[in-house]
Amino acid sequence: MTEFRIPFNRPTYLGSETEYIADSLSTSHISGDGRYSRRCHEFLERSLGVERAFLTTSCTHALEMAALLLDIQPGDEVIVPSFTFVSSINAFVLRGAKPVFADIRPDTLNLDERELPRLITEKTRAIVLVHYAGVACEMDAIMAIARQHGIAVVEDSAHALFSKYKGRHLSTFGELATLSFHETKNFTCGEGGALLINDDSLIERAEIIREKGTNRGRFFRGQVDKYTWVDLGSSYLPSDMLAAYLWAQFERASEIQERRREIWEYYDERLAGWASAYDVQLPTVPDYCEQSYHMYYMVLPSFNARTALIQHLKDNGILSVFHYLPLNMSDMGRRYGGKAGDCPVAETVADRLLRLPFFYALTPSELDEVANAIGAFEMRD
Ligand SMILES: *Cc1c(COP(=O)(O)O)cnc(C)c1O
Repeated sequence: MTEFRIPFNRPTYLGSETEYIADSLSTSHISGDGRYSRRCHEFLERSLGVERAFLTTSCTHALEMAALLLDIQPGDEVIVPSFTFVSSINAFVLRGAKPVFADIRPDTLNLDERELPRLITEKTRAIVLVHYAGVACEMDAIMAIARQHGIAVVEDSAHALFSKYKGRHLSTFGELATLSFHETKNFTCGEGGALLINDDSLIERAEIIREKGTNRGRFFRGQVDKYTWVDLGSSYLPSDMLAAYLWAQFERASEIQERRREIWEYYDERLAGWASAYDVQLPTVPDYCEQSYHMYYMVLPSFNARTALIQHLKDNGILSVFHYLPLNMSDMGRRYGGKAGDCPVAETVADRLLRLPFFYALTPSELDEVANAIGAFEMRD
């Protein structure tokens, strides 16, 4: 593989992670739910205002827990934006659900709430939202429709830790929400995630599902005198060593977010003139949304323009990437009846979107280099 002078991502690493991992080793509790896991849980509960937070082995696994908790059954329908990572819906398809793909808004690239009335049927059990690039979906409209039809809302907040909608933290709207601590996300422990619960009635069962379907948690709290198999479940707890890694970053969350804000704002200011000259769409952040500074993307005027810009950046030693083949056009999506033309906005955006290098340790001179390289790119078509 080619080495790029400026990579697309370097996982966040502050230095204190290794110290905390060493400390977790010294406690001889390195399985799940040790001291560092508890700190992470409390931190998420306190800073977001969710009822309960559970670290998981990934966001994918948190979504699988959500599907189990909502008792998704074969034949149930789950609505998901076509423009997202597969895990948002695969977790529900694993329980037998039929995915229903919604198109996205052309401005924020989030699920288009105007699609919902057309997509909801008697069988719709859940809407999985993705706050793309950490900018909120239209929560007032979506929650009103979901409540009216008695449909659960799951927020896939993998991009959106600390984002707000009208002053309120994302992940506090739906019954459930999920986070990712994969190495490409703002906060990381390599592989990890969290399930956030806002509906009290789901908390006890979540604990059981996460502990292999046993009531081990209640046993350790002395609430039952033996522990046994009581429900479906799996092993969704990360080791406390990973929680120690994550805690080092949570402890300095505002510093990490502040640096990411600077990077995002630098790109946005530096690229504005070039973007308007070439009809390039830069991110839209409505004024009632506070974003998480997860990524910087641009939507180019054509597929060919994107291909040429990627090559131009490569020639300058810079790696830029694109993502999300629309789910309605994926091999799996087609098996559920998806086809080209179902989600026209997602399909055209997928052909033209480009993500720039964006990570905590990106230096001012690297950032300058990326902006200069883009500014020097003359688009042909
Ligand atoms: C990263 C991501 C996931 C998956 O996260 P993992 O922790 O790798 O399982 C799910 N949904 C979205 C929107 C993501 O960006």
